Amino acid sequence: MPHGRGPSRLTRRGFIGRSAIAAGALAGGALPAAVARAQDEPKKRVVYRPLGRTGFQVSHVVAAWDWNEWLYGEAVDVGINYWHKIAGWPALPDPIRALDREAWYCDIAIDSFEEDGAYEQFEWARKNLGLEYIDAMKLHSICKTPEDVTAKTGYLRAFDRLKAEGKVRHLAAAQHGAELPAICTAMIESGHFDHLQPALGVAPTPDLLKMVELANQRNVGIIAKKVMGGVNRAQQDAQVRAEVEKHLGKDGKWGAAVIKTVLSYPGVTAVTPRCANYQQFVDNLSTEGLEPTPGEVGAVEAIRRHARAEQCSYCGKCLGSCPQGIAIADTLRYATYCEAYGLAPQARRLYARLPHERRAEACRDCGTCERVCPQDMEVRRKLREARVLLT
Ligand code: SF4
Ligand code: SF4
Repeated sequence: MPHGRGPSRLTRRGFIGRSAIAAGALAGGALPAAVARAQDEPKKRVVYRPLGRTGFQVSHVVAAWDWNEWLYGEAVDVGINYWHKIAGWPALPDPIRALDREAWYCDIAIDSFEEDGAYEQFEWARKNLGLEYIDAMKLHSICKTPEDVTAKTGYLRAFDRLKAEGKVRHLAAAQHGAELPAICTAMIESGHFDHLQPALGVAPTPDLLKMVELANQRNVGIIAKKVMGGVNRAQQDAQVRAEVEKHLGKDGKWGAAVIKTVLSYPGVTAVTPRCANYQQFVDNLSTEGLEPTPGEVGAVEAIRRHARAEQCSYCGKCLGSCPQGIAIADTLRYATYCEAYGLAPQARRLYARLPHERRAEACRDCGTCERVCPQDMEVRRKLREARVLLT
């Protein structure tokens, strides 16, 4: 039974007018250029679609706890009604507390397979936020192989207990890294998961799209994460920039074009784009309907070509072929954290945790990985570049 709807506020201030107020409150006028541009933006609204078998009518953009906090009210005002990974909040933000609880959806991410560990992690966050129930308990990319899904079942027992106690309604999982399509497929086939959040951008592999198609057939909701994967790098390439400008004009919204493209894959309900600042928020929400325009299709094709050559999609095809067992997908993901997300310290810490024999330094330059990579990526060059960034 669908239980979601738009924000319950009776009046919704135009987010442009509100933006000007918010901008005035910014210390040091941190984003004046962005806001000046935003004043030309027409007011936009999100589109609602059912999130798989949960029946919840979810906004096409899902927000995260780590968005800039003064965007919370803006997000509510444009109609965003799903907040993910909310354990990151020290307390429930006021704009969300003011809403009818049934009008918005949220999840708590869990990183333990153990029954008691998962249960306690969930409960700590739920109580901290003072919420009677959480819509979804979400495994946060802890499955490393498809077998983990059905072999390490403590998380299922924790979920069943929480559900029986009325503290959670649905089971979900976010997944990135190696063997993503195979792991998500195992989750769908297990029948336990109501919605998934795979890393899925403009250059998906056929396996990834097949997994999304299966989810669609089984009514498992798909919310694409890391949707801007490869876009940041593409923006730094003068040739791609020129081509995108040709299609979208100088002030074209890359974010909106990418979001609409990913939402056009059959089975994808929503996306979780990064919105670290006001400009990203405006770019990502600047959609008039969800159908990509011819210009956006052309622009995304240019971004996609670049992403295929430069951005690993973590399909895991190279995993079994490398004679050294190099953690190729993980290494390239950590490099993306550095380059695209400005998370160099975290990325270096993660890389340092890899066993020495699985790091890029142990690559023998044999080239086997490049022969199996479905994107024809120059994997060895990418590993060399990653090594420079991560050590
Ligand atoms: S080139 Fe390096 S990473 Fe690629 S298969 Fe050979 S040893 Fe493994
Ligand atoms: S390097 Fe290529 S084969 Fe390996 S995970 Fe990335 S996209 Fe897949």
